[in-house]
Amino acid sequence: MPVTGVIGRGPTRPLCLTVGGLRFARVSSDSSSSGLVAATHEFSCSLCGAVAATVTVCRAEDHASLVVSGFLGHSTTRLPLLALEPLAGSVRRGDAPALLSVDPEYAPFYCPQCASVFCRGHWRTWSVFDDDGWHDSIRGTCPNGHERQLED
Ligand SMILES: [Zn+2]
Ligand SMILES: [Zn+2]
Repeated sequence: MPVTGVIGRGPTRPLCLTVGGLRFARVSSDSSSSGLVAATHEFSCSLCGAVAATVTVCRAEDHASLVVSGFLGHSTTRLPLLALEPLAGSVRRGDAPALLSVDPEYAPFYCPQCASVFCRGHWRTWSVFDDDGWHDSIRGTCPNGHERQLED
């Protein structure tokens, strides 16, 4: 599935605004990325029940976007409209494995070996830097010691 890249990343912020009775997602200051919420789901930690992340699929006029909020801050991926329905279905079902199979960064809170969701407090995370010292990716281990890349 084509992914056009992460267009917004920053500290956690309110995901949706209420405008005229409709729920909109706002993505940083890029107003063209606002859209109707097609599906949203809170994934809870299998150990402590805390919310690990909220995943939301939004529909704008000419594109869709997938927002992962609360686990490693806030990341938004812009997607073609074609991708919207299958992803929205997975989000509605709370189907983390399906999201992971599309792109591991859609479900950074999920350990496929444990088949479980863990919250930020239960993952041990660290940053990986490339040779030039630039931030490269975030890796982590789940409470059972399985390592995976959480964010690129
Ligand atoms: Zn695990
Ligand atoms: Zn937890």
